[in-house]
Amino acid sequence: MPQNITIVGARENNLKDVSLTIPKDRITVFTGVSGSGKSSIVFDTIAVESQRQLNETFTTFIRNRLPKHERPHVEAIDDLSVAIVIDQKPVGGNVRSTVGTMTDIYSVIRVLFSRYGTPSAGAATAYSFNDPAGMCPECDGVGRVVRLDLDRAVDWSKSLNGGALLLPGLTVGGWEWNLYAGSGHFDPDKPIDRYTAEERQLLLHGGDFTVKVEMRTGSADVRFEGVVGRFTRLFLKRDTATMSSKRQEAANRFTAQRVCEACDGARLNKAALATRIDGLNISDYTRLEVADLAEVLARIDDPVATPIAAAARARLDRLVGIGLGYLSLDRETTSLSGGEGQRLKMVRHLGSSLTGLTFIFDEPSVGLHPRDVGRLNDLLLRLRDRGNTVLVVEHDPDVVAIADHVVDMGPRAGADGGHVVFEGTVERLRDAGTLTGRHLVSRTPMKTDFRSPTGHLPVQGAALHNLKGIDVAFPTGVLTAVTGVAGSGKSTLVSQVFTAAHPDAIVIDQGAITASSRSTPASYLGAMDIIRKVYAKANGVEPGLFSFNSSGACGECAGRGVIHTDLAFMDPVTTVCQVCEGRRFNDDVLALKVGRRSIVDVLDMTAAQAIPFFEEFGGGDRATLRKLRTLNDVGLTYLTLGQPLSSLSGGERQRIKLATQLHRTGSVYVLDEPTTGLHMADVGTLLALLDRLVDAGNSVICVEHNMDVVKRADWVIDLGPDGGKHGGEIVFEGTPAELLGHPKSFTAEYLRRELG
Ligand code: ADP
Ligand code: ADP
Ligand code: ZN
Ligand code: ZN
Repeated sequence: MPQNITIVGARENNLKDVSLTIPKDRITVFTGVSGSGKSSIVFDTIAVESQRQLNETFTTFIRNRLPKHERPHVEAIDDLSVAIVIDQKPVGGNVRSTVGTMTDIYSVIRVLFSRYGTPSAGAATAYSFNDPAGMCPECDGVGRVVRLDLDRAVDWSKSLNGGALLLPGLTVGGWEWNLYAGSGHFDPDKPIDRYTAEERQLLLHGGDFTVKVEMRTGSADVRFEGVVGRFTRLFLKRDTATMSSKRQEAANRFTAQRVCEACDGARLNKAALATRIDGLNISDYTRLEVADLAEVLARIDDPVATPIAAAARARLDRLVGIGLGYLSLDRETTSLSGGEGQRLKMVRHLGSSLTGLTFIFDEPSVGLHPRDVGRLNDLLLRLRDRGNTVLVVEHDPDVVAIADHVVDMGPRAGADGGHVVFEGTVERLRDAGTLTGRHLVSRTPMKTDFRSPTGHLPVQGAALHNLKGIDVAFPTGVLTAVTGVAGSGKSTLVSQVFTAAHPDAIVIDQGAITASSRSTPASYLGAMDIIRKVYAKANGVEPGLFSFNSSGACGECAGRGVIHTDLAFMDPVTTVCQVCEGRRFNDDVLALKVGRRSIVDVLDMTAAQAIPFFEEFGGGDRATLRKLRTLNDVGLTYLTLGQPLSSLSGGERQRIKLATQLHRTGSVYVLDEPTTGLHMADVGTLLALLDRLVDAGNSVICVEHNMDVVKRADWVIDLGPDGGKHGGEIVFEGTPAELLGHPKSFTAEYLRRELG
């Protein structure tokens, strides 16, 4: 068996002819600043090539049904093993996918109830909410029902003639409106809130009789259907897939989701819920926190049930072991954070006994308090010791510390990166003098001058999820760090409760930028309009011609540069457009130049290159330059003006969002783990930006685990003491210097350790 994976001549994205040897059955960590090329080597080269080589081993019949992977730009990769990518992409799923179903723990619990619970409802599907045998007939196993929201459907203060019925199709004067107004059962001028109980019942729910209605085709007898029944029939009973988007929108506008009354959200039918083990039914089980459920199962003592309970416990213990003990099995996977989803995917693979694989992780420490990083490391080590190769893209020094081998990319980002600047052990990296090496040995000191708050934004009685009715005063005019272990309630408090109480707060996340697939840094910053005008003026044509959705765009790909092919059940496949070769414009437009450069040449420039170009050829236009310089301010000068926004990393997306905010003052910014994806050197850039926002008169609130951010904050709100029901309380509020002396806070403990 070869001992290494070898890569020769990798050139994907910014990689500069990279050749590498990666030891098998070892942990290799990839480090380097954001944009240095870590993902280009690990995901875009190694993972893609592994998948492509795997696909080639299938028969043509299967291969034709698999997504086509273009060969990455690399001369050779040898001795790859099958790669499994465990990333932060949302685990997704639908309303029927829960922590229990995703980890397969629920199926073990189902077996337990069918064999051991009393009275038994039948074989296992009898306890499946995704099977007609077990699902609640009222909500079809979803636990929630969508109902017409009467307060949105009816304006109670108005009469029928006055337009009380707000639902689509019931406009005053229409024949459907006349069914009610002209029925003779109501006074059309009486406001609905003065109706008798009988009149109200009749209007909303109808009656078992017909009324004569005049239509264009003559008169007809129509059953007197109430407003509610009519809406339910037309908008809710239909398969949404067959409804026009306008109808779906109408359905959403007038409806509200409620917990299903028949099953009280338990998703199961009466028979399934009647089965009990020691007084608890299966829904009680799935509502318990995972750590508590493991204890309940440990108490089962029975020759039949104990082995099944033990199988479930082994899996639950893995969830607890990775710091997810605060989740419950009924939690919908769509509500999990990226880090939680990644750790769940990890648990699924830890259960398998496959060896000889390559596991690839994307910053697995995201969302983890330093206290829990040790447990994450244990899992990575276990995967390795079972005979797998583990590749990790990571910034956290505590994870880097367990690497058998480190590949440090750099020296900087984008065009200034793409080289391997160091390969070897962590010990040698510390002396290597690279950016990463230097940051591993130096420690950021705690700041000494804390800004004083200019005021406070209160949150009172916060009780969502695990929050214990807490009162918090978020200071204004300062940088606040909200800390605490995973599941302590940070996101709930900040991203949900605080932003609901103060809706004018501006949330800057790393999420996708909701813009069209044709968006670029230039269009996002508003520089594209000005660049178009410069080109139009110089060539005596219309500015619109230089737009990706105009007649100047390539006709084949409609200005996208790539062609997307959707395949049922598979990831969509993207290929470069053959006609324009990714240039996105047609030949006529490409012939129009400024300073001997076509618009595509300019879009290929980095901001650093474009600034001198527009100084020379921009015709004295200051606005473009100002917008391009904001990219400089947020450390993104290496991005090209025309790079699709969809190719930006989370950290890059977040910084480009910040670039549009730098001129503001008096705003409140909320950031959830802004250091995600950032190298220790990038964290410095980010903190400088946040300081600049605060100095300009704004308030910044960050949910953070990174101790460098805590050290530079003016104020800390520490939640805990632990996760889930053991959290949700304020452990500490004050300056980081005051936090240092706190006896119980986990954050204080790690802050002390960080300061040596
Ligand atoms: P890292 O993982 O170290 O943050 P990446 O490998 O994601 O860095 O990116 C390296 C460089 O390649 C960056 O300049 C990034 O903007 C660029 N890049 C990444 N994906 C694409 C793409 N699809 N098209 C063009 N440039 C890209
Ligand atoms: P943190 O941000 O500190 O990691 P969260 O605010 O995400 O913590 O979670 C706090 C608690 O609230 C946890 O017990 C978590 O399981 C629960 N929780 C978070 N989001 C949801 C949700 N959408 N539905 C139900 N429970 C949730
Ligand atoms: Zn139900
Ligand atoms: Zn094209």
